[in-house]
Amino acid sequence: MAPIDRKFIERALASPVTRRKFLQGLLVSGALASMPGGLLKAVTSEAGITYEGKYQVFRNACPRNCYDTCSIKTYVKDGVVQFIEGAPESTFTAGALCVKGFSYWRRAYSPDRIKYPMVQQGRGSGNWKRVSWDEAMTRIAKKILEIKKKDDSLLGLGLTKYSGNFGITNYGVEGMMSSLGYTTRFVGTPCWPAGIDAQNYDLGNMWCNDPEDFVHARYAILWGANPAWCSVHTMKFIYEAQERGAKLVVVDPVFSQTAAKADEYWRPNTGQDGALALGMCRHILDKGMYDKEFVTQHAVGFEEFAEYLRREVTVEWAAQKSGIPAQDIAKVAEEFATAKPATIWIGYGLQRHVNGGAMVRAIDALVAMTGNVGKVGGGARYGHLYTWGFNYHALIQKQPEGSKGYVGATGPMGEFDTGQGAKAAKYSDRAVNINQTARMILETNDPPVRMLWVSCKNPFSQDFDLTMLKKAFKKLEMVVVVDQFYNQTVEQADIVLPVTTLLEEWTQNVSYWHYWMSLNEQAIKPMFESKSNIEIAALLSAKMNQLSPGSCTFSPKLNSKKWMEMEFNKGIYDLFGIKSWQDLRKGPVKAKLASSAAWHDYKFKTPSGKYEFKSDLCKEHGHQALPEYLANRKPYAPYRLLTPHSKFNIHSQFQNLDWMAEFNPEPFVYINPKLAAKKGIADGSLVKLSSKVGEMQIKAKLTDNVAPDTLLMYEGWFNKNPYNVQNMVDDTSADMGKWKTGAPGVAIHDQFCDVNPA
Ligand code: SF4
Repeated sequence: MAPIDRKFIERALASPVTRRKFLQGLLVSGALASMPGGLLKAVTSEAGITYEGKYQVFRNACPRNCYDTCSIKTYVKDGVVQFIEGAPESTFTAGALCVKGFSYWRRAYSPDRIKYPMVQQGRGSGNWKRVSWDEAMTRIAKKILEIKKKDDSLLGLGLTKYSGNFGITNYGVEGMMSSLGYTTRFVGTPCWPAGIDAQNYDLGNMWCNDPEDFVHARYAILWGANPAWCSVHTMKFIYEAQERGAKLVVVDPVFSQTAAKADEYWRPNTGQDGALALGMCRHILDKGMYDKEFVTQHAVGFEEFAEYLRREVTVEWAAQKSGIPAQDIAKVAEEFATAKPATIWIGYGLQRHVNGGAMVRAIDALVAMTGNVGKVGGGARYGHLYTWGFNYHALIQKQPEGSKGYVGATGPMGEFDTGQGAKAAKYSDRAVNINQTARMILETNDPPVRMLWVSCKNPFSQDFDLTMLKKAFKKLEMVVVVDQFYNQTVEQADIVLPVTTLLEEWTQNVSYWHYWMSLNEQAIKPMFESKSNIEIAALLSAKMNQLSPGSCTFSPKLNSKKWMEMEFNKGIYDLFGIKSWQDLRKGPVKAKLASSAAWHDYKFKTPSGKYEFKSDLCKEHGHQALPEYLANRKPYAPYRLLTPHSKFNIHSQFQNLDWMAEFNPEPFVYINPKLAAKKGIADGSLVKLSSKVGEMQIKAKLTDNVAPDTLLMYEGWFNKNPYNVQNMVDDTSADMGKWKTGAPGVAIHDQFCDVNPA
């Protein structure tokens, strides 16, 4: 393919229409309902492509790890994207995107994209050389074959992949690994595992109400959630609930943009949310305001829970632990128990603590004992995977004949059987903890991880304990990174491969929050020499088989569109009421739910079939059977460090785009003026942060939005900026997560550091 010249990109990036819409995106959380829907009238449709006026219109879906998973319409003229907007057909997206979404096509046409396969001579040297796809694949395939020869298995080949692109076809990366042999997989999730386990113990699955039914709530507590930044589309339903008379309470250690919209704001001591919820439960119990029918007919263990509350919990104790006055706890508890329906949205930050799972269970219990589970407008909302029933063909590729793998319990310390018994043994991939990438690379042996494939992930921005990560990468013999931009992880790679953006590939998206499904059509040809993950897998397979016939089972003839077609099944079609995926070309569709309320039939998936205030399974897994108070991590430095999401990025994505940099050009540490005065720190001055993991220098911004004992830095990656918040964060595990995701969560918000003028 001929390279795309700079003038073409400049032309594509010059549209004033898109910039206006981007600016609207900055205001989206406050003015979502007034955003325009379809801008242009559809006039004709042919050969599967829709035309509106002079534009070809394509369906896309935001594949980032974002609650909203927006349905997108992309307008193309002469092969160039002119602008994009939210799909008006989805009542969730409702024609609007967030500030990040409106910048999408800036991303596709960014001159900073990785354009070609490149090889770095000396990791971290910056001495990059452009190579052909064939040469890149030859180098990679030769290394894989070398590892196989040396170890008699491919466990020395590791895959670390996460949520950089949730498009369903990207699971082809896992399929590619399987089709090479049994490999080492970094499993688990840094996002939400402790809460997943907690909800599974209580309810038997993780399943939340349709966020659109927020409008029916009479009382809503957003507990550690900041949708004004992280789920802008849900805000309109919350606003509508408020307009209908609902009270909104926000509980957050940071006074967020969402908190600014609340009727009442609580800033509890971080990590004491469990105590706060239990204090509310005790008050509701004492007042007899709990739902007697629910706890006797649809739940088990309530008496034991009540006994625990009477024995161990008082409202005063909860006040002392959380810092929220006892009378406020009592008042909100009573309001919550008497407003019907009432709901709590449990944010993911809340469970990123060493006691995170226990805290989620305490909040679940509060919702359950007040009879708000299974109610339209109620529920303990966390997330769901209800609509994710695809075939995942990509995941289930067969290993080549004779492949050897891991035997025994999964985990880095198990035995690898290379002896006589190996033939008859049931092999598997070797699973290691994704939340301890560095530690796993360093500690995993027999065989060691020799080569790492990094996909949909930027570990040098998002993983923990950077010093350890640097050391771990030194142990690796080859690092291949597949990405769109030169980020910190690419800097540490031997080979980088350019991958397509959502506008350049076929795929399919559903949400873990709402219940819509969207097709993602290829709107433009891949820029430069980028390829989809499926095409990369197919290329590697062809090269492997050329060098060593039979060494890879991945079909070299497959492409993203074919994979996408293979992912659908009758179950998905029936759930969404469509006959073919082609129906999605007309727009997104919503699952046909019997009710917007999760658990509306009270058929819980727990062992007892009821809501379990007391979970024997939870106890079997080493936790408390009841949702008891669990202490927070002991501070190891004077100030707590919080590192949540910013409005301008999703993890390490978006912040590097030109428009984003214009509005949010540099990172800061946010400090309460009282702490700043004590330390002699002026607004805008340079400060030095130090933790047991690392040090960094950064400018201070003074704000009352954080508590005097807390420092706040937003995570992300600022292009060409050495800022890396994860310099300061270690890899300590949360209490839960291993059961359902394969590895415990990570206590990202149980971090501490000191601050001083630089
Ligand atoms: S980042 Fe979230 S809100 Fe923004 S466009 Fe993507 S899915 Fe929508």
